[in-house]
Amino acid sequence: YRAKALGGGHLTYQPEMSAGLAERMQIAENLSRAMNTGELELYYQPKIRLATGTVSGAEALLRWNDPECGLISPAKFIPIAEARGMIGTLGKWVLREACRQMKAWQELGLQFPGRLAINLSAQQFEETGVADNIQEIVRAAGLTPACFELELTESALMGNVQRAIEVMHTLKRAGFALSIDDFGTGYSSLAYLKRLPVDTLKIDISFVRDMLTVRHDYNIVTTITGMARSFGLRSIAEGVEESAQAEALLALGCDEAQGYYFGRPEPAHVFAQRWL
Ligand code: C2E
Ligand code: MG
Ligand code: MG
Ligand code: MG
Repeated sequence: YRAKALGGGHLTYQPEMSAGLAERMQIAENLSRAMNTGELELYYQPKIRLATGTVSGAEALLRWNDPECGLISPAKFIPIAEARGMIGTLGKWVLREACRQMKAWQELGLQFPGRLAINLSAQQFEETGVADNIQEIVRAAGLTPACFELELTESALMGNVQRAIEVMHTLKRAGFALSIDDFGTGYSSLAYLKRLPVDTLKIDISFVRDMLTVRHDYNIVTTITGMARSFGLRSIAEGVEESAQAEALLALGCDEAQGYYFGRPEPAHVFAQRWL
């Protein structure tokens, strides 16, 4: 009977499948609770200018500490939140919490360097009124868009390209910086890139990881930094774990880097102690 409920009778019953579904349903249920019980937290990871070694900003990364399951990765629960129509609520929680933290640092007299980057999921970006909602949350917190950068993946831009471009222009005009996350893993063509009002390309971690050992990956990193330069955009490498990677990236003209070599994502107070 489960197989029928799942796939209209075309699937055969598989225990792993139903376990997966049960787990997903459990996660979805717990997630709506988690937003109100302090189980969600933003961690902060610095972004570093390669030429000077100074901090250029930070990225807010969502963490969920479930009392039963322990730490659950956003890579696991964000797709579930998207599938269950919860990403709008979750995305607003993230932005409000980022604003609250930014305000709290300001009130402590701490100077946040550059912009704080927020990840927007593809589905969140596709919701009606997304640009207004984002601006309203920032305004209500008594902050300006100049405090923030918004990270979008290529998939967020592919659905309705014309609309995506309009929303991005609205956000740009309001004062947000925009970047394309995981760049190189999607399908954005050069023709689109030319029309997108973005500031930064974030080179996906999968290319950076083996760039010093896999020629093909090194060539991709070279191409993306070169492409960014020729479009007048900045480039930032994700997942830098060793000094040799940082040196190679600097030599390629990559502007910034982010990764465990410089600093891991950390809770707000730890981040502030080390970087603010
Ligand atoms: P992302 O935005 O591409 O974030 C980069 C991921 O790489 C983060 O994983 C970060 O912790 C990890 N990372 C950073 N430096 C290194 C390194 O040197 N080595 C390795 N191996 N990993 C490194 P995380 O925090 O697990 O987040 C995974 C993804 O979940 C993010 O990828 C983003 O797509 C999504 N995500 C996280 N927070 C949010 C959020 O608030 N909203 C939305 N919509 N998505 C989020
Ligand atoms: Mg990101
Ligand atoms: Mg990324
Ligand atoms: Mg990623």
